[in-house]
Amino acid sequence: MEKFIQMLRSAGADSATIINTQSIVTAPWPIYKCQFGCARYGKNLCCPPKSPSYKETQGILDSYEKAVLFRCHDMSIVTDMAVDVAKEMFLDGYYKVIVLGSGPCKKCSECNMKVCNFPGQTAPSMEACGIDVFQTARKNGYAITTLRNKTDTPNFFGLILVE
Ligand code: SF4
Repeated sequence: MEKFIQMLRSAGADSATIINTQSIVTAPWPIYKCQFGCARYGKNLCCPPKSPSYKETQGILDSYEKAVLFRCHDMSIVTDMAVDVAKEMFLDGYYKVIVLGSGPCKKCSECNMKVCNFPGQTAPSMEACGIDVFQTARKNGYAITTLRNKTDTPNFFGLILVE
């Protein structure tokens, strides 16, 4: 796994940690926030209601024991770097590897809601799949808080489920 941790660091992650999937918290409320707090709800294949429900996500998480949780300070690079590293993991034999990124997919100016224009090159965010990112990060040693000031450094997380 050290090879992949280094890849994530080289691509812009300031921290990457191998975690137990039992430390990943799912809940119904993150998708409520998408539905009633985001203009992209229902307009992107990587967003709710197209993304997995929190119960489906929990079922996926239960299929893995380990994951790589990583942090960046630029949301725009999280999903792409996770996808790139996951491809390398797959080629190294980790055939189950899947990715959850950060934020809505912005690869297309308008999402093709029928079939993805870039299959295998994007992924839903952790929050779009019903993961409580704050609790998950905190349970794994990251100090994360809400930000009041635009000058505060933001934190964005990606997750690679792998074994
Ligand atoms: S790559 Fe394009 S079509 Fe696929 S989910 Fe992203 S925006 Fe939608």
